[in-house]
Amino acid sequence: MKKLEHNARHMKELCSEKGIEITYVTKVFAGHPEIVKALKEGGAERFGDSRIANIKKYSDVDAEKWLIRPPMLSEVTELVRYADASLNSEIGTIRAIDAESALQGKRHKVILMVDLGDIREGFTDIEELISAAEETERLANVDLYGIGVNLTCFSFIKYDEEKMDQLASVRKRVEDSIGRRLDVLSGGNSAAVALMLDGGINEDINNLRLGESVLFGKERANYSYLPDMYRDSFIMECEIVELKVKPSLPWGQVGVDSYGNMPVFTDRGSERIKAICALGKQDFDHEICSLCDQGIIMLGASSDHLMLDLTDSESEYRVGDIVELELGYFSVMRAFTSQYVEKVFL
Ligand SMILES: *Cc1c(COP(=O)(O)O)cnc(C)c1O
Repeated sequence: MKKLEHNARHMKELCSEKGIEITYVTKVFAGHPEIVKALKEGGAERFGDSRIANIKKYSDVDAEKWLIRPPMLSEVTELVRYADASLNSEIGTIRAIDAESALQGKRHKVILMVDLGDIREGFTDIEELISAAEETERLANVDLYGIGVNLTCFSFIKYDEEKMDQLASVRKRVEDSIGRRLDVLSGGNSAAVALMLDGGINEDINNLRLGESVLFGKERANYSYLPDMYRDSFIMECEIVELKVKPSLPWGQVGVDSYGNMPVFTDRGSERIKAICALGKQDFDHEICSLCDQGIIMLGASSDHLMLDLTDSESEYRVGDIVELELGYFSVMRAFTSQYVEKVFL
């Protein structure tokens, strides 16, 4: 928890040097309130999640909360109740938010998303965005809060100076048409951190929505670790349920896996110390984690079994012993959504 708190604080310092405030993204850990509180200790004042169900878990935390996926029409009641702001790209949804805000006697802040090439959420037609901005501005119970963009999530289009300048110019056009300044220009996610550190981010950008870079100390343009940040905040412990000497190669006729692929095995000899841990693809992603004991080889996983080769490890393991895994992004996400994984906060 202290590592996460440190990372939150350090990232806040890096961003504030560029005049950028952070919306700390909580979806990786399913909005667990313990972690939200640790980030808040580190200075976080604003949180975002793609799911209301997660935001609801930390409804008693005093901070501004954003829904960062376009809201479902069917969840507008909960949206207005639990979130202060949302990222939007459909005027019909914004009208529904306005009507619901009136019913609840609340105000809701709207950020309009621009799609600058990733082909995920946002307006590609800037005229359509401007008319949505003008209409949002006229609605009685919502406030047009700002403009945002999201890249490097679906088509893996990178953040660059040109995209950021385009975003700033969209903001300028919206401001000209509504006749006032907008509060928020939200420039992106952890894939924009490298550009920001290099000084390539347009100075009008004053917000980033950050998950991975804060939680794992890793920027997402080149996937490099950031100095002075912790990368090992999330450790999973799993228990050995079988330990036997077995060959490295399987025997019999090889079929295909559930994705239709033919599995490939490395020949390491006929006598290897093999362990099975009681953990599987339901609980983590074996491709997005690493073993704390670097002498262990990860062989693979099925839904509920993790297969390891312990032969080269310097430690002696027995059935019942614990093996530790350092988890990356999608592993943490699965671990937090798996009801089988006990969460312990240290
Ligand atoms: C997930 C998400 C983020 C955070 O992404 P990271 O790469 O974890 O920083 C930001 N914005 C939106 C819209 C997202 O869906």
